[in-house]
Amino acid sequence: MTHLKVFTVSFFIIFLISGCNQEAEKNKPNIVFFFVDDMGWQDTSVPFHTETTKLNKQYYTPNMEQLAREGVKFTQAYASALCSPSRISLMTGMNAARHRVTSWTLRKDVSPDQQNKNIQAPDWNVNGLSAEPNQPRTVYTQTLPQLLKKAGYKTIHAGKAHFGAKDTSGENPLNLGFDVNIAGHAAGGPGSYWAKYNFSADWRSPGNHIWDVPGLEKYHGTDIYLTEALTLEANKAISKAVEEKKPFYLYMSHYAIHAPWEKDNRFYKKYIDAGLSEFDATYASMLEGMDKSLGDIQANLIRLGVDENTVIVFMSDNGAPKQAARNLPLRGHKISPYEGGTRVPMMVKWPGITKPETVNNQYVIIEDIFPSFLEMAGLKEEAGKSIDGISFLPLLAKKGQYPIDRPLYWHFPNTYDQPPYSSVRKGDWKLIYHHTDRKIEVFNLKEDLGEQTDLSETNAAKTKELANLLTEHLIATKAQMPTDKISGKLVEYPIDAFMNKTE
Ligand code: CA
Repeated sequence: MTHLKVFTVSFFIIFLISGCNQEAEKNKPNIVFFFVDDMGWQDTSVPFHTETTKLNKQYYTPNMEQLAREGVKFTQAYASALCSPSRISLMTGMNAARHRVTSWTLRKDVSPDQQNKNIQAPDWNVNGLSAEPNQPRTVYTQTLPQLLKKAGYKTIHAGKAHFGAKDTSGENPLNLGFDVNIAGHAAGGPGSYWAKYNFSADWRSPGNHIWDVPGLEKYHGTDIYLTEALTLEANKAISKAVEEKKPFYLYMSHYAIHAPWEKDNRFYKKYIDAGLSEFDATYASMLEGMDKSLGDIQANLIRLGVDENTVIVFMSDNGAPKQAARNLPLRGHKISPYEGGTRVPMMVKWPGITKPETVNNQYVIIEDIFPSFLEMAGLKEEAGKSIDGISFLPLLAKKGQYPIDRPLYWHFPNTYDQPPYSSVRKGDWKLIYHHTDRKIEVFNLKEDLGEQTDLSETNAAKTKELANLLTEHLIATKAQMPTDKISGKLVEYPIDAFMNKTE
């Protein structure tokens, strides 16, 4: 073969390969993860319960209703009971017991844990997710956006990050695999939702700047609401990715509806007119502002002609806070171990894969986002390496196996706002182990969604089975247990507490 021929053949092969790559990238779906902060299971006009509740009638979220008509509604989706643990789980595929970011992060080496006369919280990963190995009190691993980026995705972060503490590498989403960062940093809430106050808490607490939302200076002094500013910027980033002909991952992580509760004036009045209290009307207005964002992003996808190749996943990062209306029939609220703390709204629309207006009652959990998104992006092998999360794609496509009786776990060895606990759900059963007094509660969620009847005494066999399962998980993940201040020893595992009581 002459040199010319070799050159021509090689060129042709390279052309074929690069052509195939382009084709594969073209077929990769865009992924929009629409992630709401502190939104309870019933904080929407879409009923996630088997019946329509008072809150479903109180709130108005028409774009969520539209998404429910177009996609799959998951009625039993779970997150951790508070912000950072959920966020680190979705970024890493690890359960909170394993990544050890078990409470919320903000200041380097400073834990928000409160003094408790009985219990000392462990030295948990107070500095959050790190972009570098071997940093004190952090977890370090390949992140979801890093893996998606390697697969050709443009990775866009918009809104609340809250991955790592201030003055650490993890505070900046650009260090964790995102190509674009719109308004994300260490803090888990905005100083203010109002641009007239420059999104800062300074107007109500002079000199307080740690919560100042970064990067939206062009809106300062205007009348815009934070949710709207984030949506405009996220839509611009989507348009740019489409222009660049790149598949994109948009992590649309709204600050709403986390505190501070500040009314969204576009929607506030109608709720006051409907008779809601000032707080409830404020909360409702923030929810509707968030819902408008969902509609605006979908409208942009349609305008750009990419909606048919874009997956939309809607979720919240924990239950409604205790200040908000109770999410009945669920018991408890944000940070508590009961369903009101952990059960969240979730919906998925994947054109060509999901069927419109479907309801899925299988339970899933926040760490499943990691392998599920990797599998959506064609990274099935990487998805399989997910440590704790399990891909929920079989539930969308009705293809492949999903372990329907898998256990789910929560672990909060901290002393912030709520007493510490670990818990497990398997099938219809749930066990909560309270660290302070070693009390064990067992509920049958199918019969008793409101967790009113503790069956731990009447069903000792189930209690023992779940206590064993939870203990095995805590050991396998090297979970940190708090210390009992009276005995000076680590709080024992649930199976030991169970055995001590029955002896
Ligand atoms: Ca949250």
